[in-house]
Amino acid sequence: MLSTGGRGSTISQVPDSLERIVVVLPNHLGDVVMATPALRALRAGYPGARIEGVIRRPLDGALRGLPCVDVWIAHDIYAARAWPGQLWRRWRVGRGLRGADAAVVLPNSSAAALLARFTGAPLRLGYARRGRSPLLTRVIPAPREGGRFVPQAMERYYLDLVRHLGCPDRGTELELATEPAAERACEALLAEHDLQGQAPLVGLAPGAGFGPSKLWPVEHYAALARGLVADGVRVALVHGPGEEALAQQIAAGAGVPIADLGGDAMTLPLLKSVVSRLSLLVCNDAGARHVAAAFRIPTLVLMGPTSLAYTNLNLERTRVLREPVECSPCQRKVCPIDHRCMTRLSPGRVLDEARAALTQPDWRGSVDLELRA
Ligand code: SF4
Repeated sequence: MLSTGGRGSTISQVPDSLERIVVVLPNHLGDVVMATPALRALRAGYPGARIEGVIRRPLDGALRGLPCVDVWIAHDIYAARAWPGQLWRRWRVGRGLRGADAAVVLPNSSAAALLARFTGAPLRLGYARRGRSPLLTRVIPAPREGGRFVPQAMERYYLDLVRHLGCPDRGTELELATEPAAERACEALLAEHDLQGQAPLVGLAPGAGFGPSKLWPVEHYAALARGLVADGVRVALVHGPGEEALAQQIAAGAGVPIADLGGDAMTLPLLKSVVSRLSLLVCNDAGARHVAAAFRIPTLVLMGPTSLAYTNLNLERTRVLREPVECSPCQRKVCPIDHRCMTRLSPGRVLDEARAALTQPDWRGSVDLELRA
């Protein structure tokens, strides 16, 4: 197969028959969802191939139900704290995938490229990042200007990579599916919290795995919840394991009835089902926003330290709210100053936007938002 690849790519020869393709998925929920256009293209390019997705166990379930991956390999590499243990686990995962014709490495890390190397696949495709090129056999230059990496929407970044296997561009829309068992669990959960019915249901997702710099203050979330409940809107906290304390602080600070739908029982399949039924999601710049975008759910993203350049696609139903502070985007996990990018984003402004999203039929997202790299 002759590939014309993505933007700025070189024409390259790809074997005609790739019968077994391993895809190393990213390590964060948002990036996994933003990889769905690439997986769709891969399936379209190799409809008869067996495509195996390698994914962190906590993210297993995120893409289940989609036809683009045949087999999911969930791994626990990062359950080992020290690097020797991770190396051993990575080797074991790779060895278990021996016999693959190709390995597509979506993350930028050397660790991901090493896993691909351990599979022994003769074709190992990935971007030239972080000195890992010797581990790959098909190395694609990353987008750069003046030697500096140019951030771009991750959907496009991943899609351009798999186009080097001759795969057609099937668009950058996000794609997720719900599953029957999770749908039943979702209905039971909503019934348990008396959240069925016609009144608008707004989800608040206050977490972010990236770090505390992305978190909108809990007292702001609490004030927003008070305003929404006063409007007659039902409010539910949607969060994963490890974010219980955040949810409890918001619920306690709000002082009004809001449902807590998170915790250990909030699996990714259940999260998808819950988010797909919301009238509106309000969240930080984290994975839940991409789940909502995949289901075309109106979403307000409260963004501070991160660059929109990485997520500047699929914004038709997503409005990004941010404050014009000079230090943003800093891309830091922990704010070194006073966290003004998030604290100055007032609950009143977010409440006004939420009311607009819930009531205006022509409400639209931030598709024309000006980019600040
Ligand atoms: S340095 Fe600025 S942009 Fe970065 S987290 Fe702090 S306030 Fe936000």
